[in-house]
Amino acid sequence: MHMTQTNGLIDFHCHLDLYPDHAAAVREAEAAGVFTLAVTTTPKAWARNLELTRGTRHVRAALGLHPQLVSSRGDEIALWESLLPQTRYVGEVGLDAGPRFYKSLDAQRDVFARVLRACAKADGKIISVHSVRSAKAVLDHVEEHLLQTNCRVVLHWFTGSQSEAKRALALGCYFSVNRAMLESERGSALVRMLPLERMLTETDGPFTEIGRRPSKPSDVAGTIDSLGALLGAPASDLGRAFKENLRRLLVETEVAIR
Ligand code: MN
Repeated sequence: MHMTQTNGLIDFHCHLDLYPDHAAAVREAEAAGVFTLAVTTTPKAWARNLELTRGTRHVRAALGLHPQLVSSRGDEIALWESLLPQTRYVGEVGLDAGPRFYKSLDAQRDVFARVLRACAKADGKIISVHSVRSAKAVLDHVEEHLLQTNCRVVLHWFTGSQSEAKRALALGCYFSVNRAMLESERGSALVRMLPLERMLTETDGPFTEIGRRPSKPSDVAGTIDSLGALLGAPASDLGRAFKENLRRLLVETEVAIR
């Protein structure tokens, strides 16, 4: 039997609380040994996510307020701010200027600015950021609020241009790459220009699919195989590199005790 080795791999953006059985999804990621960043879409989901991940070695919860929910839940930003001291991981946050969410863009900007101001003030936060049709605006916010902090942004499923990606790299951003990005020419070209040391893997499960089922954290093994083919590197080397990137990200965001 062929067994895919998943221990030590990284899924830096997965919505474990949106699977039919949240607790089972956490247990499965933990058993696979995949470092999984369990992003959330509303701060009301934080308490349960924290409870289920508190005792795990590999799964960490992130505190989020999704830009697509800002039109209905923007007033939860105060709750989000009050919970921030409980975690170093933030997400999913960001901006979405796609046609369905364009109308709330002003409100999204206000919320995202409050998120980044709070992160900058607390310092040492790792932030998983959504930037659909808004890469420039997202990077403007990062530049305004996070320079000279020990916060780091990980751009999730980045679909901006190559010049925007270069700007993001200059701002110190990381990129979490999923398999769907590798299925288009444009996405593949973007991934090829990213330095390996700024790359992590993600699934964005359950919003992406493998075959006909929602993807899960251990599916990053397949993403690494695809990346290996794209970049001409052995999957084992990539797995090691991403693990080292996560270690460095944690070091970069360490904040001296004040
Ligand atoms: Mn997501």
